[in-house]
Amino acid sequence: MENKNSFDQWPISNEIITAIRNKGWSSPTDIQNDSIPFALNGTDLLAQAKTGSGKTVAFGIPAIERCIEDNSIQILILTPTRELASQVSEELNWLKGSKKIKVDAFYGGVGIEPQIQKIESGIEILVGTPGRIIDLIRKKILDISKLKMLILDEADRMLDMGFFPDVQWIISKSNDKRQTLLFSATFPQEILDLSSEMMNEPEHVLTSEFEVEIPDISQKFSRIGRINKSWALSNILFEFNFQGQILVFCNTKRMVEMLEQRFSKVIKDKKISSLQGDMSQSAREKVMNEFKSGNIDLLISTDVAARGLHVDGVNLVVNYDLPNAVDSYVHRIGRTGRMGNFGVAWSLVSSEEMGMVSILKNVHGLDINESEIPENENQYFSRKKDWNEHSNLFGMVSLSIDVGVDEGLNHQKLFDWVKGLIRISDLAIGSISIDERDSKIEIHQSKVDYVISAIEKNKDLGRIVHVAVV
Ligand code: AMP
Repeated sequence: MENKNSFDQWPISNEIITAIRNKGWSSPTDIQNDSIPFALNGTDLLAQAKTGSGKTVAFGIPAIERCIEDNSIQILILTPTRELASQVSEELNWLKGSKKIKVDAFYGGVGIEPQIQKIESGIEILVGTPGRIIDLIRKKILDISKLKMLILDEADRMLDMGFFPDVQWIISKSNDKRQTLLFSATFPQEILDLSSEMMNEPEHVLTSEFEVEIPDISQKFSRIGRINKSWALSNILFEFNFQGQILVFCNTKRMVEMLEQRFSKVIKDKKISSLQGDMSQSAREKVMNEFKSGNIDLLISTDVAARGLHVDGVNLVVNYDLPNAVDSYVHRIGRTGRMGNFGVAWSLVSSEEMGMVSILKNVHGLDINESEIPENENQYFSRKKDWNEHSNLFGMVSLSIDVGVDEGLNHQKLFDWVKGLIRISDLAIGSISIDERDSKIEIHQSKVDYVISAIEKNKDLGRIVHVAVV
């Protein structure tokens, strides 16, 4: 019975063991193996957990085990979004098996009355977003002063979304004897501070302290200017030939809407849909459910709207915009390659976004490789000329010219020559280097076309001068 690689290595109820067996799961994931023994012992826990790691069950089993079936509120699980709250509640509801414990999700954007009734008729485990939990406490419907366990799920996300003051307020309404579990993909200082304030000698379950944990997927990026991103996305879509579901992330609601319109117009034989924060709760749920059931081929979404979206059939995630924060990147790409499926995460990166790529690669050691956008016939969007794709972080494009020292050229002469050819500010000319037969000069992307054509038309040297982009 004490099989190290099975769920019955722990003293957990038969109801849970049976539920897990019925689900067809045979062995715990790493985060489950590392967290469950401590959490079952009543120890506080600070756990690093990526999405798709099995973290819900890692805290779900100890939570259900701590409960007795007496209709009193014993466990509170806080999540950053409504979607994650429903997801966690759903997972705990099957995990409890035939136990009579009641678990439900509580979030804003839907009427509070049915939620009040649920609490009044008796419930043991609440899963909720901070805002709605505060409303319920303020209305004196919810009393968390006898809580046995408080769980913060995706704590870094709650921090990003500005929920920390709310979380602290909620904690202040609970009691000091409770057990606290905190799950997060990353550990910014604020989370460490909060944990030392509210936890009692927590055990640390860190998958790897300085490494961002990501699923085993292939990560690619392509340098592509804004104006050609739709072209790039359509080529990637056709390369993948819609085998499996596809998720595309944008940074703004506006871009999500625009892309949905743009792609729905040209790709008629696939179901394309979108998710963003301005949609009503019911519209969002409808889209989520359709995506989960596999009826949507391509879903375009913002970060927030896709939180808690757990779909195992996603094998391609495209970052149409690169997120500004490392943990968003990790969360996004964690939507693919779930539970060992093969996955690809492809980021479309404009020159302004290249800084983030180097942070991901150099600071966090992520294995992201530059890839060409596949060229194929299914081009619904044509590729436009865009110097941005050739420019560095400062918007400068490096040009090579076949004139050098041998023909009397030097730094100053090249600078003056270019200034004499077109109207160009000094700032639009960057570094210059001169070799014997050729030279290099950086020109701001906005002036590159003019500089190239002016040099090529110029007869000063009595011959045609050739210019190439380096
Ligand atoms: P989570 O990280 O909690 O969102 O879990 C990711 C997905 O893995 C969910 O669909 C879980 O139901 C599933 N899962 C969690 N633990 C296991 C396990 N031990 N074996 C198989 N699937 C699991």
